[in-house]
Amino acid sequence: MLEKIKEELVYLHQKLVEYKLVVWTGGNVSARDPETGLIVIKASGVPYEGMGPQHMVVMDMDGKLVEGDLKPSSDVYSHLYIYKHRDDVNGVVHTHSNYATAFAAVGQPIPCVLTAISDEFGCDIPCAGFVRIGDEAIGKEVVDHIGTSTACLLQNHGVFTIGKNAKAAVKSAVMVEDAARTVWMAKQLGQLIPIPQEDIEKLHYRYTHIYGQ
Ligand SMILES: [Zn+2]
Repeated sequence: MLEKIKEELVYLHQKLVEYKLVVWTGGNVSARDPETGLIVIKASGVPYEGMGPQHMVVMDMDGKLVEGDLKPSSDVYSHLYIYKHRDDVNGVVHTHSNYATAFAAVGQPIPCVLTAISDEFGCDIPCAGFVRIGDEAIGKEVVDHIGTSTACLLQNHGVFTIGKNAKAAVKSAVMVEDAARTVWMAKQLGQLIPIPQEDIEKLHYRYTHIYGQ
């Protein structure tokens, strides 16, 4: 069931590899099917090489397995928590991408000092607190801190991104790492220059409403 979504998730997991956002079996992408409300997520511990639609698990919103007998990703309860609390979100991504996770290791948000950050996120990329892995606690921490951003850092851990679909959440994961990398470089050169709030809002509006075809 939901074969099209499974195929897309396999493709999007490969994008995480292509953009060097994950290593080994780390990281995951999930999607909510807007029609059935079912969630598709990668099975636990599946390597990226040789990944296929058979490695995707279908669950309902209560975490009940609907299809297959593989164990879902250990982050599934956090993904479910986010879907339950954000009707606008149909895609969630988790990575430990290096530069963004470096900010998480020191508990710092990524400040909005680039037009690219204004465009994509419209604010500083927040850093939520430390939470242990295992249940929905990470999801709650993300929902409580992400605000209007599409990405949130988790202190001492990594990155969660959200989107109107899985592809949008993957795009946010690529963008947050790119932003973190440039800001990290800038910090070696000197003082970061903040962008005035009014300009951040105007840039974000232009990018999300006018830019593109
Ligand atoms: Zn993680």
